[in-house]
Amino acid sequence: MNSLLEVHEVRRSYGSPPVNACDGVSLSVSRGEFVAIVGPSGSGKSTLLNLIGTLDRPDSGSVMIDGMDVSSLNDAELSGVRASLIGFVFQQFHLSPGVSALDNVADGLLYRGIPRAQRREKAREALEKVGLGHRIEHRPHQMSGGERQRVAIARALVGEPALLLADEPTGNLDSRSGDAIVSLLRELNDAGTTIIVITHDNDLAASLPRQIMIRDGRVVSDSGSEVIL
Ligand code: ADP
Repeated sequence: MNSLLEVHEVRRSYGSPPVNACDGVSLSVSRGEFVAIVGPSGSGKSTLLNLIGTLDRPDSGSVMIDGMDVSSLNDAELSGVRASLIGFVFQQFHLSPGVSALDNVADGLLYRGIPRAQRREKAREALEKVGLGHRIEHRPHQMSGGERQRVAIARALVGEPALLLADEPTGNLDSRSGDAIVSLLRELNDAGTTIIVITHDNDLAASLPRQIMIRDGRVVSDSGSEVIL
């Protein structure tokens, strides 16, 4: 089976009266795809990404990743799935302050039972891959926004996840740094990483092979998979 992600009729509402942030979303993503999720602010994009990434649970419906129904797993099992299958990149970077780039990335492997020296070795390789081999001892406050986002991408990828989820990864960057991050994501996708990215940037979305448009918690258009099954 080539499908990496199957989202089926997923619903999630908040508060009372309820806001249907995710109102019956179904989609599937194949291995190797690079998908943009687009839509106005408040349309439910982050809610959907959090449900896909197992950071939140649906009220109903199912999320299958790599053939596993993650909606039915308990919290301990979910932590395992997250650590081994999913990498996250956020708009705000979410790096630990006062900790070197190397250790920020090595911490991405904390829940893998890998000894510290090996974690740091893999972190060094990941930082080299994102073009930051010369910045490994720098702390977040000593780096530019673009560099911080590279560290965050290295941390997301150091465990070689099947799926990379990025929520507005260029949202806090100037256009030049943002373009460099997009190029890096493309390289990673060319090398085989499946990526789903939320973006407000219409040019970025239009340049990707597939766009899924969300409005009021529903998929209103999906340009479809180009990966041949
Ligand atoms: P987007 O990412 O497209 O901006 P969100 O998924 O963040 O949209 O939000 C979708 C809707 O759900 C919005 O109306 C938002 O206010 C609401 N919402 C999201 N998260 C919460 C939450 N934790 N508590 C209450 N309402 C929320």
